[in-house]
Amino acid sequence: MQLSDPLTVLPGIGPKKAEQFATLGIRSVFDLITYFPRTYEDRTTRRSIDQLEPGEPACFEAMVISEPNTANIRKGLDITHVTVADETQKLKLTFFNQRFSAGSLRYGESYLFFGTLDEQYRSMLNPVFEPLDKAGSVTDCILPIYALTAGLSNKTIRKAILTALEVCLPTIPELLPQDLMERYQLCGGAEAYRIIHTPDSMEALQIAKKRLIFEEFFIFSCGLSLMRSVRTRAHCTPMANTNLDSFYQALPFSLTGAQRRAIDEISQDFHRDIPMNRLLQGDVGSGKTMVAAAAIVCAVQNGLQAALMAPTEILAEQHFKSLKPLFDIHGISCCLLTGSMTAKQKRDVKERIALGLCQVVIGTHALFSGDVLYPNLGLVVTDEQHRFGVNQRAALSEKGRNPHLLVMSATPIPRTLALILYGDLDVSVLDEKPAGRQEIDTFLLSEAMHPRANAFVRKQVAEGHQVYIVCPAVEDSETHSMKSVETWAQTLQQTVFPDLRIALLHGQMNSVEKEAIMAKFSAGDFDILVATTVIEVGVDVPNATLMIIEDADRFGLSQLHQLRGRVGRGSSKSYCILFTSQKNPETLQRLKALCGTNDGFKISEEDLALRGPGDFFGSRQSGLPVFRVANLAADLSVLTEAKAAADEYLQRDADFIASPALRERIFSLFQDKITSFN
Ligand code: ADP
Ligand code: MG
Repeated sequence: MQLSDPLTVLPGIGPKKAEQFATLGIRSVFDLITYFPRTYEDRTTRRSIDQLEPGEPACFEAMVISEPNTANIRKGLDITHVTVADETQKLKLTFFNQRFSAGSLRYGESYLFFGTLDEQYRSMLNPVFEPLDKAGSVTDCILPIYALTAGLSNKTIRKAILTALEVCLPTIPELLPQDLMERYQLCGGAEAYRIIHTPDSMEALQIAKKRLIFEEFFIFSCGLSLMRSVRTRAHCTPMANTNLDSFYQALPFSLTGAQRRAIDEISQDFHRDIPMNRLLQGDVGSGKTMVAAAAIVCAVQNGLQAALMAPTEILAEQHFKSLKPLFDIHGISCCLLTGSMTAKQKRDVKERIALGLCQVVIGTHALFSGDVLYPNLGLVVTDEQHRFGVNQRAALSEKGRNPHLLVMSATPIPRTLALILYGDLDVSVLDEKPAGRQEIDTFLLSEAMHPRANAFVRKQVAEGHQVYIVCPAVEDSETHSMKSVETWAQTLQQTVFPDLRIALLHGQMNSVEKEAIMAKFSAGDFDILVATTVIEVGVDVPNATLMIIEDADRFGLSQLHQLRGRVGRGSSKSYCILFTSQKNPETLQRLKALCGTNDGFKISEEDLALRGPGDFFGSRQSGLPVFRVANLAADLSVLTEAKAAADEYLQRDADFIASPALRERIFSLFQDKITSFN
């Protein structure tokens, strides 16, 4: 029997059962033994009968002291009574519809029972039992509990797995090298599979789990390294001229040390004959755009085209507006391409791109639709695309001949998680804010405090500043009680601030409207912008100094931090007010974390611990393998170890000569992403 064989090779599994297993995603014998329990029931607690507590399941050894007695209550219901005893006490057992199993209890024999005492009946209902010499299967054991599907009971699944394990265990190859297993104190792979399905103790279970988590991360890290090595086999022409002096001189401010460092790292990448693949991480307001601009100017002065892609039209247009004057100074032609432009406008732009007349293109994902042809694309920059995964990045690269790639993200991803998401990228970090920025003061307020906040809004506006107010919903609805942009803006305008200029902005408006409103807000034509999270990423209006977030408990911490980053972008002191009607201490605790720090990394780590990694990965689109045992939030320390171990292993055996099984597993997980390596 082989691990890749279909389930039907196992005794007792015919086509019908196999189909039921398939609904759980189990098709091969390997799938079956890697179908890990959802949880475990610890049945190892032993009690004497007089120690049994109602509601607390336990095992006890007892002798049968009455003949089982079955009564037919009505059709389809019979009850069997049996009395058992140990040296402390007697106990009545009651079984429903179990005349055959309960009836097999023999007078005068001793058994191990497991069950829960029912206080009301002073009896135990439906305990499970085994003869003393056969105990350990359903009593006195740690019982694995599997996720089930129609037609498959826990018992059936467990039996199939045990059968498979019995035959297969010796054929499971050891994927990890011996020396690493010793160093990291890991048990063998086959042993781990056995323990996961038939744990002897909770301690053994922990050891087995750790081994499998380590293995998953190890394989994953190897795969990412292979992706990187595929990439470093691609070639491009090194750039001859990376002198940016005239770029620096034309800037209205001097760059921060962190910005200069990042630009230097990029220049060094440009000097090489391998395309750059770099992540630029920096908290909101750290000045990533200027770093991108430097990279773009550099690419263009070496005769290449550059594309800058933003996730929203608002952001694309904002970039276009702020960067075009800068590029003009250097005689660089720049155009905008977004989905909402008219067909004619788009045609014109595409033509200029195709003719090479347009050296820099700024836009949304429209930049990469099939009919946009770049004769000479040498640099692709994506902004705020932390939700982009490995696959999408590959798709972007295909638009040019191995263009350089710069990915910018403001979601400060915990470093360990960045290893996973961006393990195939080099990383530059902007850990310094432009001079003169002040910390944003953040306050958590209850609904009753609205009048005071309103007075504060007035004060800010009177000083010539602008205010954002974010609501979680677009319009009111019967299905939720969240504040909505439409109703709230109306209330404020009519009853609170009739004399102030209020605008609203949300995702259901068309792009022309959105753009017009943003432009006017930016120009200072509105005092207050009531918006949904469409303003979350990148929007840059330095005169805005107050961010109010209604129903703040509806948002994740990282998202709130992003929203807060819309203020504090100029030299004036800025504030953020979080409103919540929640009283739940945990919720309040979570929101308070935000008042305590402006450090995006700390916040994202908190968020990761509280909500898991789902938000960082976005939906399943990231193109990364799904982990079976490992939990990214809980097992980060193992990830760090496994990554170190993988790096070390690849140093000495990059082609997996010593472990073909390991090689096979990695390739089956990363197939398409490393085929060119094969
Ligand atoms: P983010 O990293 O959030 O994308 P931006 O690139 O939008 O940040 O920069 C935020 C603001 O800071 C912009 O108004 C930008 O012009 C300004 N800025 C960037 N670098 C500097 C600097 N070195 N000194 C002063 N202001 C800067
Ligand atoms: Mg930005």
